[in-house]
Amino acid sequence: MTLEKGKVQNILVMGKSGAGKQPRIDVLVDEFGLEQLSTGNIFRDYLGQYTAIGFEGDIAQFFDEARDAFVADDEIRAGLGDKLTGHDADGVLLGLKAKYFMESGKFVPDSITNALFESFFARSGYKGMVLDGYPRTPDQSAFLQGLVEGKGTKLDAIVLVDGENDAIVARTIGRRICPDCKKVFHLEFKPPRDGKLCTECGAEVILRSDDSEEKIKSRLQEFQDKAVPAMDALTAKGIPVATVPGNLPVFTDEAVRASVMEALEKL
Ligand SMILES: [Zn+2]
Repeated sequence: MTLEKGKVQNILVMGKSGAGKQPRIDVLVDEFGLEQLSTGNIFRDYLGQYTAIGFEGDIAQFFDEARDAFVADDEIRAGLGDKLTGHDADGVLLGLKAKYFMESGKFVPDSITNALFESFFARSGYKGMVLDGYPRTPDQSAFLQGLVEGKGTKLDAIVLVDGENDAIVARTIGRRICPDCKKVFHLEFKPPRDGKLCTECGAEVILRSDDSEEKIKSRLQEFQDKAVPAMDALTAKGIPVATVPGNLPVFTDEAVRASVMEALEKL
């Protein structure tokens, strides 16, 4: 089975955090004329819709701790009142719910992630996407499959960006970012000036808290515990997997493109 340009509806890109998914996503977007749909972007979009209404009350009032669930949507709408005028109420409510979980530091439940995803995905008619960061759990996997089947679209393939844990940890903890201009460096591959200063603006570069060894290892463990079974559930349904190496002997745009397209041709 070769993926034909123009006929591909959706491709999932999976891989450990730090494996190098983005350069592969760029290739797929370009080669197949698809759009990238990332969990991070979806959250930002809906949080933005909520923020835009300018509600100043405490959103925790809409969460019923005793039941561990939100109150009914009608009740939330009533609570937001005329702030909703001129806005898409469904989008605002999704944004409010996502914000509640993120602000309270609670784990965002699959039901919220799935609902955000379904709403955003609907805008494209459930096709034409390179999905990134979703599905990340077996429940999300099952939801996504039901969604595309119900809408008459399909998941064409999974592109798995492969990488060894040790190499990913080593690469990630060498990363540094400029706190002022956000330029990204790497102590080994793209060193800052004198080992610590931004070459752009001279500020002292820092290690992002997300790039600490502890955080990376916990993300790698989560990938193993949840994303691997999520992927297994999809392959069991016959969705083919093209594995591409995260590390290439020569890392150029052409080499990345060739490695992705070769892996897809072998499906
Ligand atoms: Zn800088």
